[in-house]
Amino acid sequence: MDLSDLSAAAIAREIGAGRLSAREITEATLARVDAVEPQVGSYLSVLHEIARETAARVDERIRGGETLPLAGVPLAVKDNMCLRGTRTTCASKILESWVAPYTATAVARMLEAGCVPIGKSNCDEFAMGSSCENSALGVTRNPYDLSRVPGGSSGGSAAAVAAYEAAIGLGSDTGGSIREPGAFCNLVGFKPTYGRVSRYGLVAFASSLDQIGPLARSVEDAALAYDVMAGHDPMDATSIDRPVEAAAGALPTDLRGLRIGLVREFETKGSGTELDAIYRRAYNDLEKLGAVLVDVSLPTADYGVATYYLIAPAECSSNLARFHGVRYGLRVDAPDVRAMYDRTRAAGFGPEVKRRILIGTYALSSGYYDAYYVRAQKARTLIARDFAEAFAACDAIACPAASCPAFEFNAKSDPYSMYLMDYYTIPMALAGLPALSVPCGWATPEGGEVPMPVGLQLCAPLFAERLLLGAAHAYEQATQHARARKPAIAQLEARS
Ligand code: GLN
Repeated sequence: MDLSDLSAAAIAREIGAGRLSAREITEATLARVDAVEPQVGSYLSVLHEIARETAARVDERIRGGETLPLAGVPLAVKDNMCLRGTRTTCASKILESWVAPYTATAVARMLEAGCVPIGKSNCDEFAMGSSCENSALGVTRNPYDLSRVPGGSSGGSAAAVAAYEAAIGLGSDTGGSIREPGAFCNLVGFKPTYGRVSRYGLVAFASSLDQIGPLARSVEDAALAYDVMAGHDPMDATSIDRPVEAAAGALPTDLRGLRIGLVREFETKGSGTELDAIYRRAYNDLEKLGAVLVDVSLPTADYGVATYYLIAPAECSSNLARFHGVRYGLRVDAPDVRAMYDRTRAAGFGPEVKRRILIGTYALSSGYYDAYYVRAQKARTLIARDFAEAFAACDAIACPAASCPAFEFNAKSDPYSMYLMDYYTIPMALAGLPALSVPCGWATPEGGEVPMPVGLQLCAPLFAERLLLGAAHAYEQATQHARARKPAIAQLEARS
């Protein structure tokens, strides 16, 4: 058996029982990384030394009698999260050689639980994008078809887990960046309630939306990671101080009595297509497991994309003001300070980041603030209210995670068509709700030859993570869409 095939749950169990060591798992994973990285490109840095040192410490702790929920689990960390002593680039030239002086709370909790960090994974620059193509530092390919994108912005973490270069990946989701790459790479991609997982040490993109969560090959593994990461952190002012119900030990296998809402406004999209048939079958499967399907309405969800693309750039323009050559990363020298700022930012940021800074600065400028930013905030409130009303009639909502499977490189060349990729994931982000993507089938994209994974999105009320993971687990166990589909990367190489 190839040790890199094991799930996080199995690795922790075997190491805890003394049947395997963290060292063995780490060596097997690093060998897998060496074998597939030239084709897949998940990581911006591979942490050979840190991984080996951490594994040795985990083995020591186990020998010392400690119980570690994620003992020896190989972890991919998105490169917008700080891990002390490692480059944390946000896939941007402006931070290309910046080394983090401290560790993000979410990452620290995963390490405390026994994880071994394998590498810092690629993403869209500052997490702005849906395909990883906005990375200024590397190309990541979808392990199921190397001519296609892995999704984004957490595409490196998704590709790493899908290619068995890690058992769990950490992603950040601002408008869909965990759920969409999860769907594209045959994974469970889980965004908890806003404020559930600390943002301390996550480089801020849009602070009122950013949320860290896991990418994993099963719901159980995602739940294990969530249980470890969730919970109050005094270092993050928006972290919620409220007890967390552990999810991993209590995952049900049926959906009896659960009311699942199907969103009327999402129903007409794409009817008659192969994707539509996949989603219909998924809804039927939910019903077969005992769920009661109910019709719900989200009348303002259609404004989600427009709302998000004012709020997120507004916050990004403010958050990214700190990158000007003085305190972090790149500096392009000039005769005076003002010119130094300008040259540094002109050289350091890529085109999408610049576009967002311009849009956001415009939306926040006096004279336009009420017309754009304030209006977007009002729309955000209406969207959240729609969800609250829908949840009066149902316990969870089911809908697509993305409007298409993974697309080819350069397929979405205008920004707007890329923005539309988040049509189904943005409304939940604006409302702060927990949501996840779980594999629900395979579809061959137009003009494609290889069937690509499709994701079902499930969403629950604020703080209902346990219910959400439970529903996803029951569905996953009954359908097994993700099973036995390890990507055959060596065979794919010829096509790319
Ligand atoms: N694709 C969206 C964007 O570009 C979402 C990104 C994210 O969730 N980080 O803003």
